[in-house]
Amino acid sequence: MDRIFLSPPDVGPLEREALLRAFDSGWVAPVGPELDGFEEEVAAMLGGDVHCVALSSGTAALHLALQLAGVTNGDQVFTSSFTFVASANAIRYCGAEPVFIDCDRTSWNMDPDLLELALEEASKQGRLPKAVVAVDLYGQCADYSRISPLCQRYGLPLIQDSAEALGAFHQGEPAGRQGDFAVFSFNGNKILTTSGGAILVCPNQESANRARFLSTQAREPAPHYQHVELGYNYRMSNLLAALGRAQLQSLPTKVEARKENFRHYQNLLRDEPAIEWIPFGATGTPNYWLSCLTLNPTQTKATPATLIKALASQNIESRPVWKPMHLQPLYQSNKIHGGTISQSLFKQGLCLPSGSTLQPPQLKKITETIKQSL
Ligand SMILES: *Cc1c(COP(=O)(O)O)cnc(C)c1O
Repeated sequence: MDRIFLSPPDVGPLEREALLRAFDSGWVAPVGPELDGFEEEVAAMLGGDVHCVALSSGTAALHLALQLAGVTNGDQVFTSSFTFVASANAIRYCGAEPVFIDCDRTSWNMDPDLLELALEEASKQGRLPKAVVAVDLYGQCADYSRISPLCQRYGLPLIQDSAEALGAFHQGEPAGRQGDFAVFSFNGNKILTTSGGAILVCPNQESANRARFLSTQAREPAPHYQHVELGYNYRMSNLLAALGRAQLQSLPTKVEARKENFRHYQNLLRDEPAIEWIPFGATGTPNYWLSCLTLNPTQTKATPATLIKALASQNIESRPVWKPMHLQPLYQSNKIHGGTISQSLFKQGLCLPSGSTLQPPQLKKITETIKQSL
């Protein structure tokens, strides 16, 4: 009942009304005015002159982004090893193979120096990747001031996996504007939710229309069912787009609430030398999606596993940080550039409850439990 979850949905009467409004309108389908509205509102929030397509999941959006970028059978795509599996899986859906780049310690995102070396090496071997997927981990943008020029130098499309980073900024610009394509997820655990869903950000109307075409089984404009290309059933429901529009209104409030969580954690645990916080702020303003820490093993015998257990005994959910892709059985034979940084973050890292509904007494309970275990 009073379990404290890692990142639960934060929905209320506004969302309920929006859902019922869409339901009552009769557009109970993956087509309708709420979809158009949602796409336009996200595009406006990003500052306009981008084109948004509402899809059924972030994973589906990544798959379409890769297709739009021309990724196909036998290609290689460079991506972060320190990420959720969806970033890599979408590459494999295209028949391509991910080549992993380790993160750096300053942002936990793709290390631009390693990317540069990997691209130089690939170029010399005449085997450049078809695209680069950069991930904005835990709500913080990767270093696009370095990554974008590198992609431009080699003529590679840049796909931005911003699944966790809606509402963040990179050097003053909204996250989602840095790549050629960008993806936001509205899964149940993200900063905004439609229970499941995503927005694919495209650079022009043409590519957005192509994404809509591919997401609705690539139906040719004919009265009979005519198909030339392989399509997918990836469109978002009009009902969920209504939910998304309601959620969008409170994005700044939700970012602020998660930022407050992080501030509280830092303050309440300031006398714990074993704790180091995720280095937020390296590339801009994060959305503070998850409050993450690492434990310095020279300062404590406690490990993330012992903390997770102690918190669980108090009915508090916490999680290790993402397990790097190059350590996953699924991807262990794929090439990795570097690898030791994400490995050590995985060994020492922990994600604390970070929902935008978290209350001060809960934060106190969490931090007291942590202090005892340290
Ligand atoms: C959540 C997430 C995704 C996938 O989004 P879904 O909507 O769950 O398919 C992709 N990449 C990252 C980094 C994520 O955190």
